[in-house]
Amino acid sequence: MGFSTTAIHAGNEPDIATGAVSVPIYQTSTYAQDGLGRHKGFEYARTQNPTRSALEKNIAALEGAKFGFAFASGMSAIDATLKLVKAGDHVILGDNTYGGTFRLFSRVLSEYGVEFDLVDTSDVTNLEPAFRSNTKMVFVETPTNPVMTVTDLQAVSDMAHARGARVVCDNTFMSPYFQRPIEFGVDIVVHSTTKYLNGHSDSVGGFVALNDEKDAEWIGFIQNSVGAILSPFDSFLVLRGTKTLAVRMEAHDKNGRMVANFLAEHPRIERVFYPGLASHPQHELAKRQQTGFGGMVAFETGSLANAKKVLESVKLCTLGESLGGVESLISHPASMTHASVPQEKRESLGITDGLVRVSVGIEDIEDILADLDQALS
Ligand SMILES: *Cc1c(COP(=O)(O)O)cnc(C)c1O
Repeated sequence: MGFSTTAIHAGNEPDIATGAVSVPIYQTSTYAQDGLGRHKGFEYARTQNPTRSALEKNIAALEGAKFGFAFASGMSAIDATLKLVKAGDHVILGDNTYGGTFRLFSRVLSEYGVEFDLVDTSDVTNLEPAFRSNTKMVFVETPTNPVMTVTDLQAVSDMAHARGARVVCDNTFMSPYFQRPIEFGVDIVVHSTTKYLNGHSDSVGGFVALNDEKDAEWIGFIQNSVGAILSPFDSFLVLRGTKTLAVRMEAHDKNGRMVANFLAEHPRIERVFYPGLASHPQHELAKRQQTGFGGMVAFETGSLANAKKVLESVKLCTLGESLGGVESLISHPASMTHASVPQEKRESLGITDGLVRVSVGIEDIEDILADLDQALS
């Protein structure tokens, strides 16, 4: 089946009780049991909820995974995934992950004895010397936020597997429509469904998709034991969102390319970060690994004052954190999403004070370009 057919039908069987075509919001905490030890497979809603199960089937199918688990946020999905490693284990972490992921490693997991090293995984030759005898996991994000660095998933998977380590990929930026990491050997895919999967800026959620039965059993056990589950209503929203994922991603991609080209030719812009531009250092890899480039574009204005001017002059684009919604959002990574990353680290990653990031929405492209044009002049 094609991607859109899967997106619309996987997990979306008509409701058994009523025939409802849209999966109902099973807003219940518990279920009536027929007798002692006899029930319909549902006992308590932290453990099982039909709306959440439908979403779990849906996104797992989109990622080409056997198992899927929906969480209350992207961070709780990532946290559950990291419960596959223990005190004394070592993780290789991409040096430019989402700020919250870096914070989870540096401030939380480090307190529990999990060791990690930051590595620029965009050059796989950096990876080899980072492996240790206790390396159990390589965690990457591609493309990265906000400078859109691309990591070769097949190369990383081959290298990690030869050393007995799992590979986790945060696929939030591309969504399974443009990139399916499992096809390149990645073991576990994580998502913030808050972004493109839900796509309408009205829900916070996370997801873990994987094929290994033993790891899936543990993630499911953690989901129930810790209880950071996605609510029935949010499950419904994301399930509604994925039905239009293909058309939305096509629109984000089309507009993203136009914005990147416009900025690349603008005299006031020093540099544009977008894997779809031929000038992007990993354009060829991005073409091989992704089927599109998406709607995330970052650009260098040269100074904090210039960035401030742009951010405060836009009228259509909304100043705010987050991304992946139908509306265009604009942000200042250094002071917003990456404020928790130390300044010198930020600068070495290219997250300067003059950097501006746009999550290009699916409004009419003429209106988006006109807004950026007036803000830049
Ligand atoms: C937003 C985001 C997260 C965290 O997800 P939440 O839903 O905010 O908890 C993780 N990774 C990436 C790439 C993100 O953009």
